[in-house]
Order: sequence, then structure tokens, then C-alpha cells
Amino acid sequence: MELPLYDLHCHSTASDGVLSPQELVSRASSRGIDVLAITDHDTVSGVLSLDINDNKKIKIIPGAEFTCQWNGRILHIVGLGIDLECKELHFYFQRLESLRKKRAEIISERLVKMGLPNLLNEAERVAAGGNIGRPHFARAMVQQGLVKNEQQAFKNYLGSGKKGDVKIEWPEMEETLDTINKSKGISVLAHPTKYKMTFTKIRSVIKDFVKLGGNALEVSYPGITMDHKNHLLRIAKENGLLISGGSDFHSPKHAWTDLGKFMPVGEVDNHVLGQLLE
Ligand code: AMP
Ligand code: MN
Ligand code: MN
Ligand code: MN
Repeated sequence: MELPLYDLHCHSTASDGVLSPQELVSRASSRGIDVLAITDHDTVSGVLSLDINDNKKIKIIPGAEFTCQWNGRILHIVGLGIDLECKELHFYFQRLESLRKKRAEIISERLVKMGLPNLLNEAERVAAGGNIGRPHFARAMVQQGLVKNEQQAFKNYLGSGKKGDVKIEWPEMEETLDTINKSKGISVLAHPTKYKMTFTKIRSVIKDFVKLGGNALEVSYPGITMDHKNHLLRIAKENGLLISGGSDFHSPKHAWTDLGKFMPVGEVDNHVLGQLLE
């Protein structure tokens, strides 16, 4: 069986993407994508707003990108094919939504201490009801002329190690994987080379990920080198993990991360799609 055209990682206005879920589906459709997973940060509200069976042209996979921690480091795990009716999942995301709201208050206080105006209302306005995160503060800063672009907002205020990178009690990886398992989803360790970790560290993350029931590795995404991709393909094979890939699309402004641009090579039998399309 040949793999269809797909994208298994992208964001809508339900979190920090700029297109609505419907706009995302239309864009994917017009780019010839057959299978699209919508994976907003810690929420499925975007997927829920769509009638996913309504769309004959494109298959929508319900998903989410779960923020969690492992040994005090932040990791992202994409859950694919999750059951939207799972109660545990629902409570889990309710908790994450309030965690994110509390974190936003702390972020705004920290930024005030750094001499910026209070951006909480503006960031909430930008988030427009979606799950709030640092990118909404970055966009608020751009809108107020405080920085020239979002990149600079991260570099000066919000990126790792900066005061606006507020640490909160994200769920432990174990709890996140349990929740994905309970909702019958496939768990994918997102963008493994984007955590500023050595491959030795990445291997020890993956060892625990496998031990705790993790299923797959993302091996194709913006910024990954061919070398690293091959390295991850090897690790996936060694550990009996499936592979996945996606654009991590957030905005049409970033043409290099457009929908459908990141598809790993692979046979259907070691690809998450094999299971998702069963
Ligand atoms: P949060 O979920 O609030 O921790 O924000 C994480 C999101 O911020 C990521 O999913 C990216 O969309 C965005 N992000 C993280 N680092 C950067 C960066 N250096 N420049 C631009 N966007 C970033
Ligand atoms: Mn994001
Ligand atoms: Mn991510
Ligand atoms: Mn993402």
C-alpha cells in the first residue's frame, strides 16, 4: 500500500496557529493533502469544532500536542487518533487550560518586571479564546511595536532561559502517555532534536518513552537535518517504534513550514498511518 499525502502535526486558532480549524482543512485540501491531523497545544477544541466525518475529500485525524515534562525538561508529545469522548482526556485538558491561564498571568507579571507594559489583556485578545501560550505574548509585543517580530520577542523575553519562559507544573511524561493510552491514541515524541539535548540525552528520553508505552517518533519536521533524520530512523527501528512527520504549521507567513511539506520516507508497516488508517 502506498502512503497517502498527509500532515500529522499542525496548529489552529484553538492554540497558537493563526488559521481557524476550517481554514486549516481548506488549505490542506487545496494543497492536495489526503490525511490531516490537527494537533493543537493541549486541546482538542479545534477538532471538536469541525464535523470530522462531514469532509469527504480529506480525512481528519483528531489529535493534540501534549506539553509535558521529563526530568524537569519540557517535551512535546503528539497524540494521534485520540477518542474525543474520553472523559480522562477531557479532565486532563481542562486542567491544562487553567494551568496555561495561570501561567499567562505570571508571564505578564514577569514582563512588567522587565519594563514592558502589562500585556495580559492584549495576549488574551490575540489568543481569542484559544489555549493561551507564549506566541500570543510575542504577537501582542509585535502589535504594540515593542519588538520587530515574534522571533525577537522569543529571543529577548520568552525563549528558553528568559524571564518570560515561566516554569509551571506540566504533567509528567508518564501521566501524559497514560492519558493518550486511555484515549486510545498513538503517542508520538514530537521533534526530538528541538529540545537542545545531545543524542545521548535523546536516547535516554526515548528509553523512558518506550518503557512508559510511547509508540512513535517524529522523524520529519522543519529544521531537521538529513543526518539527524537518519539517526532517528535508526533509533525508531532499534526500539520498535513507528515513525511520523508533520509540518508543525502555525501560519501561512512561514512558507517553509507549509502543510504537507514534511513526510518521512517509510513503509506503511512502520508508519503511524498504517495504524491510523486501519
Ligand atoms: P508554549 O506552548 O506557550 O510553551 O509555547 C510554545 C510555542 O512557542 C511553540 O509551539 C512554538 O509555536 C513557539 N515558539 C517556541 N520557541 C520559539 C521561538 N524561538 N521563536 C518563535 N516561536 C517559538
Ligand atoms: Mn506552537
Ligand atoms: Mn512542539
Ligand atoms: Mn507543534
